[in-house]
Amino acid sequence: MSHPSLYCPVCQQGPAPAWARARDYEYFSTGEEEFTYYHCGHCGTLFIDPVPVEKLKQIYPPNYYSFVSSSGNMVTRIKEWLDKRFLRKILRDLPAEKIDVLDVGGGTGWILDLLKKTDRRVGFTQIADIDEKAKETAIKNGHAYFQGTVEEFETDRKFHLILMLNLIEHVQYPLLVLKKAASLLHPGGILLIKTPNTDSWDARLFRKTYWGGLHCPRHWVIFSEKSFRRVAAQTGLCVKKLEYTQGAPFWAFSIIAALSRKKIIHTSAQAPVIFHWLFAPLSGLFALFDFLRKPFAKTSQLFIQLTREEKQEKVC
Ligand SMILES: [Zn+2]
Repeated sequence: MSHPSLYCPVCQQGPAPAWARARDYEYFSTGEEEFTYYHCGHCGTLFIDPVPVEKLKQIYPPNYYSFVSSSGNMVTRIKEWLDKRFLRKILRDLPAEKIDVLDVGGGTGWILDLLKKTDRRVGFTQIADIDEKAKETAIKNGHAYFQGTVEEFETDRKFHLILMLNLIEHVQYPLLVLKKAASLLHPGGILLIKTPNTDSWDARLFRKTYWGGLHCPRHWVIFSEKSFRRVAAQTGLCVKKLEYTQGAPFWAFSIIAALSRKKIIHTSAQAPVIFHWLFAPLSGLFALFDFLRKPFAKTSQLFIQLTREEKQEKVC
């Protein structure tokens, strides 16, 4: 069956062949409904079609992990420590005396809290997020909060650092979001993106069962290094650094979903994968596994730093 939208959202070539069929094995928000992902042979982008844009309330249930506050357990504390270490490196590269930060999809602002603790130069902190419930906590912690999408966010301010961590894969038109972020970035500033990578071993290994990187049906456009560089070239920003980082949650989702489908363990809408007791140990194990193989393998998440050159005429 041909469908006009099967043309790749990144390079507009196609039609792309079907790559996987999946259902929501993590939260069971859409019951038995199956979704198809297509793989662009030209640039490597993976995309869902049709995009379940009218089902947002359903596919992000109240127990969705980013709506539930972290419990301050050991895993959370280790993650915070690692994030702080990574963010400190990014901040070091920013020469500005005062650093204004925008976190797109930043929720209650826990990363902005970390940034403030990490570097005294961090000044104005802004969140743009659709989550209504996060607003009160964010404001109480001293962050400005815009409830809505980044495309709707209007300001005269330019930011020295913009964070989009695990966000770009959730939107229908990533190029529009990237262009908007580019317009909000201070010259010399950094846009930091974290997003899944389709060109990875676990994506291929779990393709026929369920690859956690699909986060089905919530990830709509999933990049590879090649396809991300392609979309970035259309934004006016330069890719300053692109590195692979551990995809431990995807390994854990993939394995738990496979065990659950074989009825070895039980998961359901009332007992989502992320709250299964196996999730933390599997994540820990595969974080170590990916860390060890990172020097010679493409793992399933990308960390990308994009920058706006001080001199517009400079070609990157
Ligand atoms: Zn493409």
